[in-house]
Amino acid sequence: MATESVCPECGAALPNETTCETCFHQMLFWETENPANWTVHHLTVLCYHLQHPSIYSPDGLVNGKQLLTAFIRDGISPAEVRRTSRDKVNSNTRNWKITARPDSKGVYAHPVAWTMRAADVVARGSDRYCDSVREWAQSVYEALQLSENSI
Ligand SMILES: [Zn+2]
Repeated sequence: MATESVCPECGAALPNETTCETCFHQMLFWETENPANWTVHHLTVLCYHLQHPSIYSPDGLVNGKQLLTAFIRDGISPAEVRRTSRDKVNSNTRNWKITARPDSKGVYAHPVAWTMRAADVVARGSDRYCDSVREWAQSVYEALQLSENSI
């Protein structure tokens, strides 16, 4: 009987019955439970998706990497991103899909050595949630830089 499993996408070593998805839902619950945690919601969603690129379409993955660069490197706020990318991401005007289809999934050209994952954020607990997520986002950005997957 296995006591640990490894996430096929991000490589997280997870205890029985735990998946990255259950960790993601735990984080969303903490955001609902405590409105202060909602401030980092955009980073949580982005990091989770970037570490599980097959949720994205190839174009969605490129867009996700650009968003993370805007948030982390350029310090742009989610509100500003929404203003400037309204036309690009508006589902009525954009001509590409954000989420994957069976024949069209996001994938990295080079493997990425993640240093922090969803389960690490959950393990640190709800009290440190915002700090943990900011650190997670920074680590995802740096891992992508090091992996030579162009941003
Ligand atoms: Zn994972």
